[in-house]
Amino acid sequence: MTPYSRQSISEDDIEAVIRVLKSNFITQGPVVEEFERAVAEYCGATHAVAFVNATCALHVALKLLDVTVGDNVWVPAVSFVATANCARFCGAEVGFVDVAPDTGLICPSELEKKLELAKRERRLPKVLIVVHLAGQSADMERIAQICQIYGVRLVEDAAHALSGEYMGKKVGCCLFSEIAVFSFHPVKPMTSGEGGMLVTNQASQARRARLLREHGLDRDVSHAAKLSDAPLHYEQHELGYNYRLSDIHSALGVSQISRLDHFLCEREDLAASYLQRLSDSNLKPLKRNTDCRSSWHLFVVQCDSFEIRNAILRKLGDEGFSVKIHYMPIPNQPYYQSLGARPYDYPKAQSYWSRSLSLPLFPGFQISEVDRVVALCESISRAR
Ligand SMILES: *Cc1c(COP(=O)(O)O)cnc(C)c1O
Repeated sequence: MTPYSRQSISEDDIEAVIRVLKSNFITQGPVVEEFERAVAEYCGATHAVAFVNATCALHVALKLLDVTVGDNVWVPAVSFVATANCARFCGAEVGFVDVAPDTGLICPSELEKKLELAKRERRLPKVLIVVHLAGQSADMERIAQICQIYGVRLVEDAAHALSGEYMGKKVGCCLFSEIAVFSFHPVKPMTSGEGGMLVTNQASQARRARLLREHGLDRDVSHAAKLSDAPLHYEQHELGYNYRLSDIHSALGVSQISRLDHFLCEREDLAASYLQRLSDSNLKPLKRNTDCRSSWHLFVVQCDSFEIRNAILRKLGDEGFSVKIHYMPIPNQPYYQSLGARPYDYPKAQSYWSRSLSLPLFPGFQISEVDRVVALCESISRAR
């Protein structure tokens, strides 16, 4: 079966991992730091802190903003569940913001409306997590303006968007947010096997992120010396976790990031082929924002109806393409319904997911296969 996305592993990637396996450090060592510097430099942020996956990095991001029991964290109604779950890890309540039905991105006017209401009800969120769905940045400038008015802090779940750009700058430069988080799961724009990265321009946040990554243990001698002169002294001042990434994973990450711009070009070529072949189709690609260069993590198309979408999914499955839907709205999840979420409070999210599917797009996928996928889709959508 051809998946909607998968990793591209080169001989150099494999050798990089083998080199680490033959070295002294296989867990968190010098290659983790090398990976962090490479990601910070790539996206133009001052600091990068590696994590075992993006979900853990999101959890720590919210800890850095002191999210705790009784707080509200808002997320777009359409995202992967991890975006919302990280708020639950902190004991916070999750609120959802409806999305634009033609992009799946958080809708600034919906956000504004919901914040005005929340202000009157004295239930303003502490943090908004924005998601750059499919690799296209949300309208960060506008969202940051709105959040500033209401004193809401901003985190970017950029799991889809490494290599993407917004207003001519790489996603992750944190121009409009305090923290951004990337994922290196194999389906994402590049991989470290498992892995995540938290980026920020604030040194104090990066330092605390490193402490939270490692049980809260502080080995900073000058600081520790206040209490003890003992060598190798460490102190725990707050509850941390074991969220470390390994040098094995980081070696793959370092090798992959040197290929990331090639991946981006290949993804752009494939996306251009899809766009051209779908130009007079009933299947509509997501609307593209002129301020953005997408990472093309996903190539999402929208069908005229739920029934046609499902028929296309079945047809592609029969023909060996295991495509997926990104995503059923989080308020539809039984867990979030059990906490009081009501799916039909987010009509645009319902419209988005019920008609959308993600066609295969990844480095190594062939233009000839794009032709085949489009022909299969058209055979269904034209017949109805
Ligand atoms: C993949 C993904 C995550 C989680 O990433 P992991 O590295 O698998 O923890 C979070 N948010 C979004 C939007 C994702 O797509």
